[in-house]
Amino acid sequence: MAEFEPVIGMEVHAELLTESKMFCDCSAQFGGPPNSRTCPVCLGLPGSLPVANKKAIEYVIRTALALNCKISEHSIFHRKNYFYPDLPKDYQISQYGETPIGVGGWVDVTVNGETRRIRIRRVHLEEDTGKLIHAGGNESLVDFNRSGVPLMEIVSEADIHSAEEAREYLVRLRAIVTYLGVNDGKMEEGSFRCEPNISLRPRGTEKFGTRTELKNLNSFRAVYRGLDYEINRQEEILQEGGKVVHETRRWDDTRGVTATMRGKEFEQEYRYFPEPDLVPMEFSREFVEEQRAPLPELPEDKKRRFVEELGLPAYDAEILTNTREFAEFFEETLKAFPEPKTVSNWMMGDFSRLLNAAGIEIAESKVRPADLAGLLRMISDGTISGKIAKSVFEEMFETGASPEEIVKKKGLTQITSEAELYPAIDQVISENPKIVEDFLGGKEKSFGFLVGQVMRYTKGRANPQAVNRLLRERLAVAAQK
Ligand SMILES: [Zn+2]
Repeated sequence: MAEFEPVIGMEVHAELLTESKMFCDCSAQFGGPPNSRTCPVCLGLPGSLPVANKKAIEYVIRTALALNCKISEHSIFHRKNYFYPDLPKDYQISQYGETPIGVGGWVDVTVNGETRRIRIRRVHLEEDTGKLIHAGGNESLVDFNRSGVPLMEIVSEADIHSAEEAREYLVRLRAIVTYLGVNDGKMEEGSFRCEPNISLRPRGTEKFGTRTELKNLNSFRAVYRGLDYEINRQEEILQEGGKVVHETRRWDDTRGVTATMRGKEFEQEYRYFPEPDLVPMEFSREFVEEQRAPLPELPEDKKRRFVEELGLPAYDAEILTNTREFAEFFEETLKAFPEPKTVSNWMMGDFSRLLNAAGIEIAESKVRPADLAGLLRMISDGTISGKIAKSVFEEMFETGASPEEIVKKKGLTQITSEAELYPAIDQVISENPKIVEDFLGGKEKSFGFLVGQVMRYTKGRANPQAVNRLLRERLAVAAQK
């Protein structure tokens, strides 16, 4: 990409984890039988009046503070007018213009060791729409359970310049909202969703090119692939002297392409105006400071602490703090086994590999921090070998059993006693006369092979240091014959 520079801005919608909806007391939980969580307010029936959810407003303020935003002293709700079957009032209550709850923040993002600051333009509060379910044929059904669920929108400046940066920005943003406990971060369920807009411009120029917007990105991987595809598609058009069309495009994850969803030749006119049924919001400095108090240690601070106090490499600290649950698991394990780098290696290695293969998050895993610590203790005190530990861990992951149980049940304890190791070593020596001869003739490499055979003979249970020592002893005896 020498010739063109990608310019990406990101809109993120995050459903807030409040008990009730934004303007009524219906449950805001995900799921439930269709249309079971509705009332006159969230169905937009005439005569119903909205009342703002204070918790949702507090959550947005906390997020805005965590994103280094300024909190507006005055803020109001607007009506965004448009027709769509999932919007029963024919308008969505949102926030428009200069007075969103939070303005002017930033998130620092590290890609390939280089840290860049992505500015946040605004953080505001609105309500979610219902959900259309396309039933096939000409039929569509609508479920209003989601109608009126508090939705936070976080809009970045167009400061992102690659698909990697976009993905990393979202990873950090998701970490922040999940650490705060204001959102569950579930991209696949749509409670944390993003819509990037992207354009290309000749490198070294300022003016933005024509942009497209991308929808249907349900995973970090989809964000990366979708943007990568769109960057290449626009680049090809521009290189051939063509023009990019201003439109919304849909990412097709199966085919790995973006396709036109709807044109934007006519910018929709929403006729925003202040919502007359809701009072303006006034935030005193005291109220804002009170919202700062419950902020937990945020991912950036945790990351820094892991590097400075625990001596972890920045890369480890970054991965470990990507989700709150992952970081907490690490810290819990550390309490019982205080060797940060060893715990980190297991979490980033075997544990992550198994989680990925199973397609689950750490919170859904059966492994408990105390059991991972127990396993690491058994390795460090020589009860089991590192190799055996890997298979024990797989079983822990599979069944949730403790490492002590598994090792006991399967008789996996490490063999260190000479009485048990000599027979295995003698067997290997007698079965491999040629290799023994090579070793005695000066071929040191043959020794490794013999150690390997002893390990195999004992099904990996032999203590490698003991095998080394005893095997050399036995070979020295053989040499004298
Ligand atoms: Zn309701």
